[in-house]
Amino acid sequence: MKGAADWVREEIRALTAYHVSPAAGFVKLDAMESPYALPPEMAEELGRVLSGVAVNRYPDPTSPDLKRVLRESMGIPDRLGILLGNGSDEILMMIAMALARPGAVMLSVEPSFVMYRMSATMAGMAYEGVPLKEDFSLDLPAVLGAVRRVRPAVTWLSYPNNPTGNLFARADVLEIVKAASGLVVVDEAYYPYSGGATMLDEVGRHPNLVLVRTVSKLGLAGLRLGLVTGPDDWLAEFDKLRLPYNVNVLTDAAARFILSRRDVLDAQVARINEERARLEVALDAMPGVRRFPSAANFVLVRLPDGPRAFEGLKARGILVRSFQGSHPLLADCLRLTVGTPEENGKLVDALRQSA
Ligand SMILES: *Cc1c(COP(=O)(O)O)cnc(C)c1O
Repeated sequence: MKGAADWVREEIRALTAYHVSPAAGFVKLDAMESPYALPPEMAEELGRVLSGVAVNRYPDPTSPDLKRVLRESMGIPDRLGILLGNGSDEILMMIAMALARPGAVMLSVEPSFVMYRMSATMAGMAYEGVPLKEDFSLDLPAVLGAVRRVRPAVTWLSYPNNPTGNLFARADVLEIVKAASGLVVVDEAYYPYSGGATMLDEVGRHPNLVLVRTVSKLGLAGLRLGLVTGPDDWLAEFDKLRLPYNVNVLTDAAARFILSRRDVLDAQVARINEERARLEVALDAMPGVRRFPSAANFVLVRLPDGPRAFEGLKARGILVRSFQGSHPLLADCLRLTVGTPEENGKLVDALRQSA
């Protein structure tokens, strides 16, 4: 009785660690990163800013300046509290840990963000996934039925949804918030690309609604910074599960510097939104390709032979995400992150030759 297999929880041994494909040398369109780096002058100035950071000191765990900048940048009103995470993935974990009473269930829809189910397993919680409809819209009666049946401690909704790209009907999301007695988390990782669609105005009006955001899809995936906002009683409990100093001094300083020049990121987001529209037109012109509507910085497509197209793209140096085998609704589907105009051009050419 000495090895990991003897002691590690069975459900953890059954997990596979979060897989990141090696991407060196590829056009990387698999992880919803922004393709745009900082402009060189700004990167240099960032270097100067970071050189002044006291790395010998622990961060201020309450990060007041960073919270203020995030508030301004995301339009979060002063009346709502904010808790920061090392990426929104960490916030997911805090929420799951806080709610993992024996017998507690996490609910989400499927297909959606894989980390929801994984965080439930990590925290020792049961998980229930309600299938979306064939067009990836919410099956509201099925979700409400599951809410009544399993009484979830927490329900996760990605708005817009990853990996499908669509926005659920706002009225349906609100129905779920009203029907649920447990917490409902709306995950707005893709809010910069949603055309203004957000549930932020509903936060504070329901005792069981919190909202999660991240700067990752805004062009700052490497910083690892996310937040949750919502009623104080929830945030106070989650705060107890936050590891001390979870947001490091370099992330704090870099995020404050970059977000205070939001016009740069906003211009990148605008370019990505334009490119998404162009990519959609090109995809729609391809015979046999079904393109799903997107309110995010990626586009989901279904091809006659998804795995073959995936391999064809890879052979041509382009990395996208295949969901073969992960969910029946995603059979033959590929998720294409929107890149630069050049990258998207290569993607379209390669897809024409591979599909
Ligand atoms: C990418 C993504 C996140 C991850 O956020 P991080 O802040 O990078 O941890 C969260 N939720 C959804 C739905 C995502 O697609």
